[in-house]
This record gives sequence, C-alpha cells and structure tokens, in this order.
Amino acid sequence: MSLTCRIHGAKDLRLEQDGPAELGPTDVEMRLGAGGICGSDLHYYQHGRVGAFVVREPLVPGHEVSGTVARIGSAVTRVAVGDKVAINPSHACGHCDYCTGGRLNLCRHMRFLGSASVFPHVQGMFRERFVMGERQLTPIHEDISLGELACAEPLSIGLHAVHRAGVLTGKTVLVTGGGTIGSMSVIAARLAGAAHIICCDIADRPLQTARSVGADVGLRTDLMSDAELTAQLADSADACIEAAGSPAALIDLPEGGAQGRPHRAGGHAAGRRRDVPGQQHHGARARLRGRVPRRACLRLGGAVPAHAPRRCAAAAQRADSALARARSLRAGERPHAQHQGAGRL
Ligand SMILES: [Zn+2]
Ligand SMILES: [Zn+2]
Repeated sequence: MSLTCRIHGAKDLRLEQDGPAELGPTDVEMRLGAGGICGSDLHYYQHGRVGAFVVREPLVPGHEVSGTVARIGSAVTRVAVGDKVAINPSHACGHCDYCTGGRLNLCRHMRFLGSASVFPHVQGMFRERFVMGERQLTPIHEDISLGELACAEPLSIGLHAVHRAGVLTGKTVLVTGGGTIGSMSVIAARLAGAAHIICCDIADRPLQTARSVGADVGLRTDLMSDAELTAQLADSADACIEAAGSPAALIDLPEGGAQGRPHRAGGHAAGRRRDVPGQQHHGARARLRGRVPRRACLRLGGAVPAHAPRRCAAAAQRADSALARARSLRAGERPHAQHQGAGRL
C-alpha cells in the first residue's frame, strides 16, 4: 500500500491508501523524493479549480517532483533501480505534427501531470509511489539532493524563457515577479551571462529570494511613485521576463521582441488581454506600462505548455551549477506524510 494525496474539491484534500500499480515493459515505479508545491496546486486545493480547469473527479496534484527508482519494467534501459531522477511532467503524444517535427513542447495532445485541463484528469505525483514511462525520467548522478532536483521543472521554464530572449551576455534583464518562476528566471539569466538583473514584486519575501539567487536589484513597485518607476525602469532593460502571471503584468508589459515580433513563453496570445488561470489582478504592475523598452519581452504564465521536455532534461543536467542556487527556494519543506497541511503554507 502507498499513501496518495488527492484533492476532492475546494479545501478537501485527503490522504488515501492505494494498492500496488501494474508495470508495463517500459514503465518505472518511482518512490517520491521531493515535490514543489506550484501555484496551480494551491489553486486546486483552495478553489477546486485553476481558471477554467475545474476538479471534476479526485485529482492527485504535483508536477514539480523528483524521485528514486524503485522497480523497472522488463524493457527499461534508461534508468536502474536506486537511481535518483528528475521527472518531466509534460507527456507529449509523440505522433502529432509538432511531435514528429521535434517540438514536443507544442504537442497538440499534451497531457500535463497533476492537471484538470482534460477529463479524465491527468493524475499528478504527490504520492508515495507512482508509475512513470522511462522517457519522462532523467537520472542524475551528481551530489544533488532530491529537494534540489525537484526544482528542475521550474528551472526548465526559466531556461526556456532565457533561451527565447536571445543572447543576454552583458545585458540588463528585468524580471517581473520574484516567486519560484521569477527566481528561476533570475538564475537562468545569470547563467546566460546577464550583467545586471532587476526583479520587481509587491512583497518582500520573493524579492529577498530573487536577490539571494542572483538579482542585483529588488524593487517593491507598489511602494514606488510613478516618477520613481520611470527613473528606475525607463529604458533600463534589454530583455524583460514576465513571471508574475498576472493579467495586469501581461497586458502592460510592451509587445514586441528583439525583431519586432512578440515573444511568448507560454500559451498567452500576444496583444490581447488574457485571464491567467487562478491569478489575481495585480494593479501595482499596471504602472509599468510604457516604461520598459520594446526590445524583448517574454511572458510566463500559469498552466502553460512551456515546459519543453528537452529543457527539463537540460535543467536536470545543469543541476550541479544551477540548482545549488535554488537551495534557498526550498522554504517550508515537510515530509510527504504531512501533505494535508501543505496547502495552507
Ligand atoms: Zn508548476
Ligand atoms: Zn504530439
């Protein structure tokens, strides 16, 4: 028997016992190592939904997870029992035109773990043991903790954003939002050689975190006057990464990228106001309108298919240099047996 965390509806999270799962020839049984609680997990718990994705049957949350290989199917070659692995939560179909063209992250039939975007829901990984196809797994042999390894998936988003921003060597980067994705973007920008990184938020703690992982400047934009904002940010950045996930930030950062075309790191159409699932309107950032140059603007949002599988693997493989910086992001760790209270963190 193994313990599974399931959300049955808003504020209704239960720990339940599951029996052993069957293992196909290319399947791997994983033992949970560590899991990051994403904003979407919190919204499923607190509201029973993330935007239009409503919990219609019990949902196992969790997609930022690491684990240890417990058992392997007869044809598995990629991992061995006892391996420590990073897990890619994006399940591309492997057959559509995007998949066969090598762009699995844009798969037309993407199934993302721990998501109610489709029905039946795609069950996530907040459970003591779970089965995963071997192609989703990246074994890591460096001396990295399972907690740090669980940061590979959110780090992959930061790496993807920075990749789309083009060459950042010696440049100034503005990151709006200092949460997990914002801080991962800071780490990725620093790794890409950015000379100066500014992070904006409306709370102190995310800014402290962003500073601890490499941001040079943290700005509480909600406490700044329009004149101060203009003085600090006008023409300040060569590239901008929107990681607040708020509708205001999405519409108020400028359109257009380095070649005059919009950069998108997620599923939000450029130039149109889009609601971000489960996010609150973020009035303070509306004042950034027009104060950031139009050279490069990237957007990250919740529940987006931006978790490019190859970048997830790349993030895991770069764990030795990057994930060490992520140690300070692991606030509020607790054993999985206490998941019941995790949603209240
Ligand atoms: Zn996430
Ligand atoms: Zn596909």
